[in-house]
Amino acid sequence: MSDAAISIQGLNKTYAGGKVALTNVDLEIPRGQIFGLLGPNGAGKSTTINILAGLVNKSSGKVSIWGFDIDQHPRNAKRSIGIVPQEIVFDPFFEPYEMLELYAGLYGIPKAERRSMELLRAVHLEDKAHAWARSLSGGMKRRLLVAKALVHNPPVLVLDEPTAGVDVELRQQLWEYVRQLNDEGVTVVLTTHYLEEAEELCDRIAIINHGQVVTNLPTRELLAMAQEKAVSVTFDRDITAIPQATCFEKIELKPDNRTLVITYSKDKVNAGEVLKALQDAGLIIVDVSTQEPDLEDVFLNLTRAPATV
Ligand code: ADP
Ligand code: MG
Repeated sequence: MSDAAISIQGLNKTYAGGKVALTNVDLEIPRGQIFGLLGPNGAGKSTTINILAGLVNKSSGKVSIWGFDIDQHPRNAKRSIGIVPQEIVFDPFFEPYEMLELYAGLYGIPKAERRSMELLRAVHLEDKAHAWARSLSGGMKRRLLVAKALVHNPPVLVLDEPTAGVDVELRQQLWEYVRQLNDEGVTVVLTTHYLEEAEELCDRIAIINHGQVVTNLPTRELLAMAQEKAVSVTFDRDITAIPQATCFEKIELKPDNRTLVITYSKDKVNAGEVLKALQDAGLIIVDVSTQEPDLEDVFLNLTRAPATV
């Protein structure tokens, strides 16, 4: 039994028709955190979430939620998680209050213990309690889905692209609420294709690309890595003494004895300053190439994705 909030081991998903959406995904989401699953469109985020939700069947692998295996203990696993799906789907003929009461009933929560009004207040929909759901704006509907995901008081809340269709001000309110829930002990998992969003909120970020987890690190470490860049410089003769400069984070001599690979922090210096430092050391440069770490590529892909708010 895993003491992670969510434990995913060797998860694979191939959709009918042959589309491979997830390849051997391993992910441990610690309890108590705000965890970001970051990746470009089509990376496999929703597939992962929908497997947790029981909406998509996995092809193979093991998944447990709050220690409950989703195959062996599906009811307990389901009770441990609240999911706000990416797609907004619900019956437009319900009123928000009525809808929350209905879902609480489905979870067998006695009337006296239901929190429908409290939840509506928390997501700023108190005044819409008895409006028709179909009259709500996109952002309101999403907030109603957050309330719906919380009716059974789950220890884990998962939000799949929660800011799609939510305007800036309401997004801020949503994040405040997410932080508050987290302060109260709820483990939060959110997916996004915006780096800044994950950066602002998450304690830890996993990046998923083409159905594979490419990195999984505390946010601070990830951001530090994203700032590192390397330049490979070849000189006209063998290097006898490794040059030093404050702008070099790391310097490494290649086996040819003529090439140095210098890592620098791109938020502090640019490649030109690095090259100038080498020239100032009296070295004659004959060739230069830059190296992009894999992570950098992923970040570039992500940040290039067009905004679709
Ligand atoms: P993300 O949420 O990261 O944007 P998804 O999990 O929705 O990515 O999709 C991952 C891949 O699986 C994509 O290539 C997508 O087209 C494909 N896919 C998603 N849902 C289905 C489905 N029901 N049938 C076939 N392919 C699907
Ligand atoms: Mg998605």
